[in-house]
Parts: sequence; structure tokens; C-alpha cells
Amino acid sequence: MTPEQVKARLLAVCDAMLASEERLTRADQAIGDGDHGVGMARGFSAAREALSTKPANTVGDPFKTLGLAILMKAGGASGAVFGSFFTGMAKPLGGTVLDAAGFTEALKDGLAAVQARGGAKAGDKTMLDALIPAIAAAEGETDLQAAMSAAAAAAEAGAAATANMIATTGKAKTLGERSRGHMDPGAISLSIILAALATDG
Ligand code: ADP
Ligand code: MG
Repeated sequence: MTPEQVKARLLAVCDAMLASEERLTRADQAIGDGDHGVGMARGFSAAREALSTKPANTVGDPFKTLGLAILMKAGGASGAVFGSFFTGMAKPLGGTVLDAAGFTEALKDGLAAVQARGGAKAGDKTMLDALIPAIAAAEGETDLQAAMSAAAAAAEAGAAATANMIATTGKAKTLGERSRGHMDPGAISLSIILAALATDG
């Protein structure tokens, strides 16, 4: 994939997140403070604007542009988390071709950036519970499109599985056992992001 192709996919990611605002609001109303949809919409709308205007010389550039816009505009815990995820993904992508190995490497650096920023781990009922299985799934693939599709499917399953977890971090923490039965809003966002990234055309 070329830098322009990556940019096109990330514009589609922005559109998918903007179209999901209500779903994310409802998910955060169930176990948080209800601001996840609005925050993500603010961030991804700014990211859309930035992607449309900034040049993409490497395959990492559009990821960085997206991440910086979210860090600046989204707000909340998720602004820092998803902003760090995308700027982290950009780090190993200094070349002009994205392949399966680069994609997996980028997901790993995105994970490292989120963990350095927020300190959460697997099982805490966060977006990490969609991201960690996505990385494991991508790692087995040698074709970029296959790696992206595998990551998306694993993220969706991971997000669904957060419904059985009890929140130990963030605003849902105070709910304890009552957070069970509801999917984590950030995990839903991560699965929407990877699904849109994996959609060809
Ligand atoms: P806030 O918690 O400030 O209201 P949002 O509602 O926008 O922010 O986002 C909440 C989501 O952010 C959670 O569902 C979770 O997936 C993610 N999140 C929060 N804290 C962390 C963390 N430390 N590590 C990873 N993800 C986190
Ligand atoms: Mg919230």
C-alpha cells in the first residue's frame, strides 16, 4: 500500500467513526459518563480535515496526522489513548510501502504507546482487549489485506468479549460488577477503526 492509499483508508476510518457517534454515546452512557461518542466525533472530524490537507510522503505520515489531530481535539481519556495509538503506529512506518510485517509492527508500537500513556493491561476492560488479540491475529499473516482483515475480526471478537469483564480502570471502575454485561466503549471504537481500515475500496 502507498502513502496515498493509506490516507484513503484512514479517511474511511474517520467516516466510520463519525457514523458511529450515537452507538459510542450509548455504550459510554451504559458504563461511563456518555461522552465517548462526542469526543471521538470531535477528534475524527478534526483528523478528517487534517488528512485532507497534509501531504503523505511516507506510509506513517497519515497515521501521525490522524493521531496528532485526535490528541489535540478529542479530549477525555480516549483522546490521549487513541491519539497515542495512532502516533505510536506511525513510528516504524518511515518507508513508502506498507506491508503485512509493517502493519503488525505498527500495531505493536501503537499498543506500546497506549500502555506507556495509560498503564492499563489485558483484562482491564479497555480498548486494549480489542487491540491485543488483533495484533496476535495479524502476526500470523504475510499478506497486508489478510493481516488487516484478521486484525479486524479479532478486534471485533475481543470487543464483544469485554462484555464479560469487570472494569478496573477509567470511569467504569466505580461501577465494578455492574459494568458486566456491557461492552467497553473504547474497545468498540478500536474494532470500528480496524474494520474500516480493512475495508478495500
Ligand atoms: P473518559 O473516560 O475520559 O470519559 P471516553 O469516554 O472518551 O473517556 O473513553 C473511555 C474509553 O477509553 C474506555 O472505554 C477505554 O476503552 C479507554 N481507556 C480509558 N483509559 C484507558 C487506559 N488507561 N488504557 C487504555 N484505554 C483506556
Ligand atoms: Mg466517557
